[in-house]
Amino acid sequence: MPGMRRALSCSLGFALLALASGCGQPRTPAAPSVQTVPADKALVLSGRSTSVFHFCSCAYAKDIPPREQLGYASPDDAERAGKIPCTHCKPRDAYAEYLRSRDEEPAAPAPPVEGPR
Ligand SMILES: [Zn+2]
Repeated sequence: MPGMRRALSCSLGFALLALASGCGQPRTPAAPSVQTVPADKALVLSGRSTSVFHFCSCAYAKDIPPREQLGYASPDDAERAGKIPCTHCKPRDAYAEYLRSRDEEPAAPAPPVEGPR
């Protein structure tokens, strides 16, 4: 069927065209686009003009003025944004510790068993 063959080669041509035009487009540079979270809910904090990040309980984190604060959901996010961990609070360790304690917490406390069976 000649009509069908023509349709097929036509769609192939379109696919090639789409590929070719896609090749010429410059890729966006690998600028880290790390999502920040509201500083009052963040576990990891940094300042806009500082390169160090802290765990939220760190004394230095509390020194960051509120309008300067940048919050991250995890130390990984902060590092992707180019921040380095504070040597005082060791946010990676503190975060791991936080995750551990959160996992160990029972969802619902078991009722105490009273008396011998
Ligand atoms: Zn710190």
